[in-house]
Amino acid sequence: MNLAHIQAAAGLNSPIRHQLFIGGRFVDAADGRTLATLNPHDNSVIAEVAMAGVADVERAVDAAEAAFPAWARMAAADRGRILLRLAELIESQTEELARLESLDTGHPLKDCRFLDVPRTAGCFRYFGGMADKFQGDVVPVEAGFLNYLLREPVGVVGQIVPWNFPLMFTSWKMAPALAAGNTVVMKPAEITPLTALKIAELMSEAGMPDGVVNIVPGMGAIAGQAIADHPRIAKIAFTGSTATGRRIVQASAGNLKKVQLELGGKGANIVFDDANLIAAVNGSAWAIFHNQGQACIAGSRLMLHERIADEFLERFAKLARSIRLGNPLDPSTEMGPLTSGQHRDRVLSYVDVARSEGGELIAGGRSPADPALSRGCYVEPTIVRARSAQDRIAQEEVFGPFVTVLTFKDDDEALRIANGTDYGLGSGLWTGNLQRAHRFAREMHAGMVWINSYKRVNPGSPFGGVGQSGYGREMGFDAMREYTQVKSVWVNVDAQIPPWYPR
Ligand code: NAD
Repeated sequence: MNLAHIQAAAGLNSPIRHQLFIGGRFVDAADGRTLATLNPHDNSVIAEVAMAGVADVERAVDAAEAAFPAWARMAAADRGRILLRLAELIESQTEELARLESLDTGHPLKDCRFLDVPRTAGCFRYFGGMADKFQGDVVPVEAGFLNYLLREPVGVVGQIVPWNFPLMFTSWKMAPALAAGNTVVMKPAEITPLTALKIAELMSEAGMPDGVVNIVPGMGAIAGQAIADHPRIAKIAFTGSTATGRRIVQASAGNLKKVQLELGGKGANIVFDDANLIAAVNGSAWAIFHNQGQACIAGSRLMLHERIADEFLERFAKLARSIRLGNPLDPSTEMGPLTSGQHRDRVLSYVDVARSEGGELIAGGRSPADPALSRGCYVEPTIVRARSAQDRIAQEEVFGPFVTVLTFKDDDEALRIANGTDYGLGSGLWTGNLQRAHRFAREMHAGMVWINSYKRVNPGSPFGGVGQSGYGREMGFDAMREYTQVKSVWVNVDAQIPPWYPR
């Protein structure tokens, strides 16, 4: 099938963009190389996408650097207006973007329509509105002086995005950076570049000046590393694995880049014996199975009070087994394939790890038997009870529809287990006890805590982790702080300064 046929079969109305976006134009890679992006439903090729090399990153940095002075000096309200226009355009293209994201990532169309696309538009809208509300400060210093603080953009920003939420993370990264007056060189993950390129097209339509945004799909070890190493990139924002995060930090030492890292997680989702069991079962299924479990904030450690564990697990397993797997473009599908075959194999390898550790397989643990799904990257919703909180399945991020169940006797034990990993991103608890809820919120080693819910996000609410989950925050005012630096300006208004060296 050629590109036009694939486009039509997926219900897309506009051409699939497959070139790099540099200086406001879609261009081929300098060396002409491409990389196939696959449909995880059947592993067919969707498109051959231009693959950026070092020379292309160089071109993108040149374009971003040239665009920076005018963009940074533009009235903040005018920058905001472009982002607000972009948000409108994204909403007007909801179906197109939803289908494209679903095709490239395997996210169910329903998720893309009702979560990924609206959240992307919402993020650009939030930061579009923020652009002229984020302001400096005045410090009450000694008499006779005015000391004011400017929040200035840092310059050219490098952004590296993973494959689990390619569209949404494009907005999380770009919206605050652009609102604050930076220009951007962004690399989507090599396996999911399509929606970021569509956003580039909409950026131009929204009136974004050429060169402010540059998008360079390519391999992590080449294009990603070139961004991390680049001496004219002032800051790098990265979402992905902890191992790559460490490499980014090392590369940043060259020109002392500002670094912001959003890495993995092993979220504790704790259900106490006084919780609303029905709500907790539903919320815990959402916590782990939404997006096929490919979420850094997934509730992948399900911790149950031993008094309710059996009843909870019976209901939870029944719900997990009933989740409808299928072609993500079918609107009735509730769970799609994982985003790549390699990742499916990695997730399934943890079923072997679980067996070798003496874990009890409660549900799933394999690819579905349905022949219609046999060529895709599917894994059934999988529930495994671990023998110990120290087991690998209770410590390592699986990043799939794979939940590890642990039980506890009392609050202190629950807290010990919850805090017993190196990660610290999202965690949650279900309880009717207010004091316990707040105690856990305070004492859990995490960047985000959900009480009687799980995995809520909002562009106004800071998102990020502690420990091996990284540092820095996306979203909200914190994101604007991340993408600016403070300049302290001292003005002698009417200070009489006696000479220090009187002569
Ligand atoms: P990864 O860290 O390899 O890739 C994330 C991004 O970094 C991609 O765009 C990739 O091209 C880029 N990259 C890779 N090597 C690079 C380098 N040397 N320099 C600069 N950029 C580089 O992650 P992955 O291989 O896609 O997935 C592996 C694991 O990472 C997953 O199983 C999961 O545990 C974790 N992960 C976490 C998140 C999250 O949201 N926190 C997202 C995706 C993956």
